[in-house]
Amino acid sequence: MSILTWSPTDLRTALDGTAPLVVPDDDGYEDARRVEPGGIEHRPAAIVRPTDTAGVVRALRFAREAGAEVAVRSGGHSVFGLGTRDGVLGLDLRGLDSLDLDVSGRTATAGGGVTAGAYTRAAGAHGLATPFGDTGGVGIGGITLGGGVGLLSRARGMTIDNLLGAEIVTADGEVLQVDDEEHPDLFWAVRGGGGNFGVATRLRFALGEISDVVGGTLLAPATPASVAGIVAAADAAPRELTVILMVMTAPPMPMIPAEWHGRLVLMANLCWSGTTSGADAALAPLRDVVTAAGGALVDGVRTGPYAGLFEGGPPSGTAVATGRTFFADGLDESAAAHLLAELESCDAMMRAAQLRVLGGAVADVAPEATAYAHRGARLLGNVAAVAPTASAAAGYTPWVEALADRLRGGREGVYANFALDGGPDTARAAYPGTTWDRLAAVKRAYDPDNVFRGNVNVLPA
Ligand SMILES: Cc1cc2nc3c(=O)[nH]c(=O)nc-3n(C[C@H](O)[C@H](O)[C@H](O)COP(=O)(O)OP(=O)(O)OC[C@H]3O[C@@H](n4cnc5c(N)ncnc54)[C@H](O)[C@@H]3O)c2cc1C
Repeated sequence: MSILTWSPTDLRTALDGTAPLVVPDDDGYEDARRVEPGGIEHRPAAIVRPTDTAGVVRALRFAREAGAEVAVRSGGHSVFGLGTRDGVLGLDLRGLDSLDLDVSGRTATAGGGVTAGAYTRAAGAHGLATPFGDTGGVGIGGITLGGGVGLLSRARGMTIDNLLGAEIVTADGEVLQVDDEEHPDLFWAVRGGGGNFGVATRLRFALGEISDVVGGTLLAPATPASVAGIVAAADAAPRELTVILMVMTAPPMPMIPAEWHGRLVLMANLCWSGTTSGADAALAPLRDVVTAAGGALVDGVRTGPYAGLFEGGPPSGTAVATGRTFFADGLDESAAAHLLAELESCDAMMRAAQLRVLGGAVADVAPEATAYAHRGARLLGNVAAVAPTASAAAGYTPWVEALADRLRGGREGVYANFALDGGPDTARAAYPGTTWDRLAAVKRAYDPDNVFRGNVNVLPA
C-alpha cells in the first residue's frame, strides 16, 4: 500500500467549509465509497462531497498543490469502479443534484451528480425527455461524458447528441462554460471522451417532447434463428424502435415459466417512441420471429410513460462480473449458434450476451463530430460471466474475450462506457485514429499532468 503524501486534515482546512469531507471511520464514509457493481471495495483516503461548484474548485486546487490523485464519482455505475480508488482524494458528486427544467425553452440544466432516472422522471412529468441509457441509477455525469446509448438512441441519438453545453472545472480549478462557441475543442472532447478533461459540474441538454411509448420486455426461447432474427428485425425497423437484446439462461423468476428456468432465452427490451397507432406494424416483424421460436414466454410490452421503462431493474448484489464489450456489423445465424453453444457450455453462475442494435439517429452524426467515433457500427455488444468472487470471475476472462472476439466479426473498437479497463489498448480502441490525436491535444491543453487519469485514459499529446 502506498504512503499518503497529503493530509486529509490539510484538505479539510483547504475546503474551508465549502464542502463536507468524510474520512475512514466517519459516518457516511461507507456510503460515500460504495459503488454499484459487485466486488469493488476501494477505500479512498478522503471523500469530498461538494454541493456546489465552489467545493469542487477547492478540492481540485488542493489536489493539484498536494499532488493527490483524484477519483470522480457521480452515479457510481462505472463497470470497473472508476469512481473510487484506494488511497485517492474522492469527489462524490451526488450532492450536485440540482435540476432546472426550462419547459417552454425545451432545455434542462442538471448538476453533475443527477441520475438518469431522477432526470427522466422529472422531465417526463412535463411530457419531455432526453435520451440516456436503460438504467435509472446510472449517473448523467458518467453516461454523458462517455457517449450514452439507450432506449431512445435510434430515434433521438446518443446522450451527447442532445448535450448543448457544460460547466467544466479543469485540473487547476478553473471554471469553464463550454459549448459550440466557447471552448469548442473541449466541448467536442467531453462528448464521448469521458472524464479525462475535468469535472462536469453542470450539463445542459435539449429536451424533446415525448408522449406514451410502447415498451417493455419480450421473452422467448433463444435459437440461432430467433436471436439472429430479432437482431435483423430491429436493424430493419423504423428508427422510432430501439431494441436492447439479452441472451442468457433464464433466471428462476416467478414471471418466467418454471420449465424454462436455466434454459437459453432471449429477452428483447424495446422502446417504440413513434405514434401509438404505428406500434403494431413496427413490432410485427419482431413478434413474427418470437412466434416462429414457439411464442412469447413473457410479454411485458405495454403502452405507458417513457419514464416507466427506467423503474426497477435488477437489485445490486455482491457477485462479480467479468465481461468484454465489442462493436459488430450484425449477427448472422452462424454467429448466433456459436453464441448459444458457448452460453450453454459455460459453467459460470450467470452468463449472458447483450446486443444493442444501433443505426438510426446514432448513425446520422459524422464520426468526427464528437469524440464517440463508432457511428457506423450497427451493433454494440457485451458478453459477461458472473461469479461469486473476483478471482472466480477472473477465471472466465479468457472465455468472454474469445466469445467477444468471435462475435465482433473483425470489427474494431470499444465503447468507453462499457470498457472493463482504462489501459492504453482499450483507450486506443475507444478513441481510434484522428479521434485519439484530437483528444490528446485537448488533454494537453486542459489537463497536461493527467490529473484525471481514473478513466479510459487519454494521455496528453
Ligand atoms: C447496470 C448498468 C447499466 C448501464 N446501462 C448503460 C446504458 O444503457 N447505456 C450506456 O451508455 N451506458 C450504460 N452503463 C454504463 C455507464 O454509462 C458507465 O458506467 C458510466 O460511466 C456510469 O456513470 P456513473 O456516473 O454512474 O458512474 P461513476 O462510477 O460515478 O463514474 C464513472 C466515471 O465517469 C466519470 N464521471 C462521472 N461523472 C462525472 C462528472 N460529473 N464529471 C467528470 N467525470 C465524471 C469519472 O471518470 C468516473 O470515474 C451502464 C452501467 C451499469 C452498471
